[in-house]
Amino acid sequence: MSAAWTVGVDFGGTNIKVGLVDRRGRVAQMVRLSTHRAGKPDTFVPAISRTARAMARSVGVRSSELLGIGIGAPGLVDASRGIVHYLVNVPGWRRVPLATRLRRRVGCLVAVDNDVNLVALGEWCFGAGRGSRHLVCVTLGTGIGGGLIIGPCLYRGASGSAGELGHMVLAPGGPRCGCGRRGCLEASIGTRAILRQARAAMRHGAPRLRRLVQAGGGTLMPELVARAAALGDPASRRIWREVGASLGTVLASVVNLMNPDRIVIGGGVANAWRFLAPAMTTALRAHAMDVPARAVKVVCSQLAERAGMLGAAVLVWQHIEERSRLEAGCDATSHERRGGLS
Ligand SMILES: [Zn+2]
Repeated sequence: MSAAWTVGVDFGGTNIKVGLVDRRGRVAQMVRLSTHRAGKPDTFVPAISRTARAMARSVGVRSSELLGIGIGAPGLVDASRGIVHYLVNVPGWRRVPLATRLRRRVGCLVAVDNDVNLVALGEWCFGAGRGSRHLVCVTLGTGIGGGLIIGPCLYRGASGSAGELGHMVLAPGGPRCGCGRRGCLEASIGTRAILRQARAAMRHGAPRLRRLVQAGGGTLMPELVARAAALGDPASRRIWREVGASLGTVLASVVNLMNPDRIVIGGGVANAWRFLAPAMTTALRAHAMDVPARAVKVVCSQLAERAGMLGAAVLVWQHIEERSRLEAGCDATSHERRGGLS
């Protein structure tokens, strides 16, 4: 099986990362497509099939000979039927039978799931979640996402939307959230909220942050707030402390509810980790019950931008395992899935 290849697709709001993944979870090739150009339902399918065919050709196989194509999509997905119900930041996706459409073009298995679920699968198999049996994965960005792996199966919930951690309520009646409600975690610690606080800080001082923004051409980004914190800027450090405290408060409820052994925090926060982690730990310990709080380790993602592509490959391997189990007449209700490493 070592020569068997899988294509993993991480469909993001800005770009679509496509990786050719080998059986050991190494990304042999990677290309980025623009979501603006290739992200509509009628451009996505041909773009992915073209890219997958070229990747297959480069390793001497046809696309139909790939193990499969896995896709993580940023929205509500019916993973069992490969249907994308809607995407949060990409217009035009309403009940699109993505797996069926792409399978017709490429001739191999196509599996689709929510993007953060696949980040969780990737971290669980190859990154900071290895060895965990009760894993929560959180991604911080414009949206705050969550993926749950329970002993060791993705938990999707009754309608496929489990893990919406960003819309757990932190402050009832608080700031308006992108989902239309008020006081969600995402409204306090999503990228937009961080940038709003950084702009307010720059109006009242924060000279180091101001200089970094000027030197970078005037565009304020969370990475610059992290760099300013690393340079000792007190206002930037305070922003990350508040992010950590809000995150820790919501994670305490998650810990009380799920009793996870590990929480992986991902989504491009590696450079801010050391500024938000202490306040997060303090808030988590203050608000969670002692027993589950002692059982959990909160760690930073190890795979960064590869997590979604690798998780998409793992999803394909799980589908193949399940299919062979069904074909062999084994117990189809078994929840034991090994994640494709065996
Ligand atoms: Zn919300």
